[in-house]
Amino acid sequence: MSENILKIQGLKVAYGGIKAVKGIDLEVNKGELVTLIGANGAGKTTTLKAITGTLPDCSVEGVISYMGQPLKGQHSFQLVQQKLAMVPEGRGVFTRMSIYENLQMGAYTRNDKAGVDADIEKWFTVFPRLKERASQLAGTLSGGEQQMLAMARALMCHPTLLLLDEPSMGLSPIMVQKIFEVIRDVSKQGITILLVEQNAKLALQAADRGYVMDSGSLIMTGNAEDMLHDPRVQAAYLGE
Ligand code: ATP
Repeated sequence: MSENILKIQGLKVAYGGIKAVKGIDLEVNKGELVTLIGANGAGKTTTLKAITGTLPDCSVEGVISYMGQPLKGQHSFQLVQQKLAMVPEGRGVFTRMSIYENLQMGAYTRNDKAGVDADIEKWFTVFPRLKERASQLAGTLSGGEQQMLAMARALMCHPTLLLLDEPSMGLSPIMVQKIFEVIRDVSKQGITILLVEQNAKLALQAADRGYVMDSGSLIMTGNAEDMLHDPRVQAAYLGE
């Protein structure tokens, strides 16, 4: 039987009178790359924020479990200790720290200095632009550079579960390809991933399974390959 890493049951989120998520059930099993796609305002980011407990003051119902334990009100540093990492929409790098310091911060739960240094070197090889700018303040990087840094920083803690919110947003086509190559590689290494994406085609091409969210509800789920060929998905989300 597949092992659940993430299980969401009956999640409802309302911002005042706006019902953003209307009772969803979603699972991500060990080693899977699962994508959550849907139009603007469907409730995807709200779902990720509910997992990490970073929603503003609003009404939240339902149960979210990570590795069999309910997630409730953990601080972000506790989530990283539990190897749950998130790359938020808009990146969330530490703007007043250098690239190098951001990567070190990503590894603050680790005490294998040699391993941390080796990982930083590995990410510098994957993203040479970060190496060239290692001492530059993260806040002065371009959007694409910040996206690379945010991904690398999240992976420095060797997460069990990686949550990605719109990693392709605002990137040039070449950078989008590069980021998706990294996502595929990371997935092949066995890291479990929940990927929220506007670019449904790329997301479904990379994923094992997918969910479609519409106006706060999950309206479809299945094997990603099957969804790519589903005429309803093609018409509504793939522009075909
Ligand atoms: P996008 O792809 O455009 O980022 P999304 O699927 O991630 O969209 P959410 O950001 O989760 O959608 O938003 C879902 C709904 O909740 C939207 O109608 C949005 O306007 C509303 N919403 C989100 N955050 C807040 C907030 N802090 N206060 C009030 N309403 C909010």
